[in-house]
Amino acid sequence: MERTLSIIKPDGVSRGLIGEVIKRLEENHIKVIAMKMIQMTPKQAQGFYAVHKDRPFFNSLTAFMTSGPVVVMVLEGKNVILKYRDLMGATNYKEAAEGTIRKDFATDIEKNIVHGSDATETAAFEIGYFFNSFEIMS
Ligand code: ATP
Ligand code: MG
Repeated sequence: MERTLSIIKPDGVSRGLIGEVIKRLEENHIKVIAMKMIQMTPKQAQGFYAVHKDRPFFNSLTAFMTSGPVVVMVLEGKNVILKYRDLMGATNYKEAAEGTIRKDFATDIEKNIVHGSDATETAAFEIGYFFNSFEIMS
């Protein structure tokens, strides 16, 4: 069993896609074991995306991620890290496979609806960044 962190980004929330994303998770037998809506502070977003701090898009990305509420979830399942990334599609929606969330809904390489952890170590860091153990259903 694996866990991963999912975020429905501000564009996904403002465009009314919370249900659509969760529907795709449930259709694919991915379990939601924690969920909340938050609006990140600049410090919180900068800490979350610290791995990207030297990238040219860092300021724009953290501004976008703090621009409105997001839905953060912990997902659980077999190979869920890769499975959820397959459902999301490539970072750049233009390169995303047909039927993926980003292909179907993203409008921009930055505004791409969803986030998903990319490895077990990053998943552990990211889950701990937003949730304590009492908030995660086991
Ligand atoms: P995420 O981490 O959000 O799940 P990802 O792992 O597919 O996405 P990363 O390379 O980790 O992609 O980039 C993190 C986020 O930064 C992307 O989802 C996107 O919102 C933004 N981003 C990535 N590359 C660019 C870029 N070239 N220009 C603008 N924004 C970008
Ligand atoms: Mg990433």
